[in-house]
Amino acid sequence: MKPGNFTLAPTNNLYYTDNHIIYLNGSFLNASEVHTDLYGQTLHYGYGVFEGIRAYDTSTGTRIFKAEEHYVRLKRSCQLIGIPFEFDTTELIQKTYELLETNNFKDAYIRPLVFCSPNMTLNTPNDVSIMIAAWEWGAYLGEKQLNLMYSSFCRPHPKSTKIEAKVCGHYVNSILATSEAKRNGYDEALLLDSDGFLAEGPGANLFFEKSGKLYTPQLGNILPGITRATVMELCQEQGIEVVEGLYLPEDLENAESAFFSGTAAEIIGIASVNKTVLPLHWENSLGKQLQTAYKDLVLERKY
Ligand code: PMP
Repeated sequence: MKPGNFTLAPTNNLYYTDNHIIYLNGSFLNASEVHTDLYGQTLHYGYGVFEGIRAYDTSTGTRIFKAEEHYVRLKRSCQLIGIPFEFDTTELIQKTYELLETNNFKDAYIRPLVFCSPNMTLNTPNDVSIMIAAWEWGAYLGEKQLNLMYSSFCRPHPKSTKIEAKVCGHYVNSILATSEAKRNGYDEALLLDSDGFLAEGPGANLFFEKSGKLYTPQLGNILPGITRATVMELCQEQGIEVVEGLYLPEDLENAESAFFSGTAAEIIGIASVNKTVLPLHWENSLGKQLQTAYKDLVLERKY
């Protein structure tokens, strides 16, 4: 029996075939042949850190969008929760390009994961690994708009964890929120913070538009999204004012339009929240304008 064949979960694997290669601790290995230890601290306690990155097939070749920012956040997430990070982020970027080339991926999703060695104690680990997986994923940037549901789950309290770190275990909260929303017939969830202010989606940040300005929840209870920062840069270039603050659900319900931003979601319009429809047609919204600018940026289109 090959390692990796003692499968615990169904093998309807969407992420790799026998030919795909992943990066693990300095080596390029066949994804179907590598395996991890079942006594890992990350598997048991969610004590690990990851990133979600996109590569786009641009006119000048495959480009990893905001590679530096993502690997810096990976490092910072580790530092925030005490996982030793002794990897060189510049080298990790080079290895990621190599990984894409080896697999012949042009439009891809990239998933680096820093995980801890076998250790059933609650002490911080000495031995840490990094793997980088990738799979093909085309740009979407489409016209679909989401019907959201306010989640019954709030985001984790910033005094209960390092909320600004992209920690594996935080995603239990995201899975609970998304599955609740889907079970109730909505496309996605919108979570509030523990004080009832608007926070973010399970995997995306929130913006809403009113009277020509954009509003977005301030940092503190949310993941500082790299797409969120990109949207703010685009707004600066285009002279759109963005106000960060503490906002209530009624601020969103009285908005004209809204959107989510995230590496996976890119920029995606929000049609309604708990069935309250946002009135402005997407085509006429600041979100649509920014979606177009974001598309040009990630695809490195210049006019
Ligand atoms: N919030 C959460 C909870 C997320 O998981 C993500 C996705 N990483 C985001 C926001 C958006 O972050 P980014 O734009 O860096 O993908």
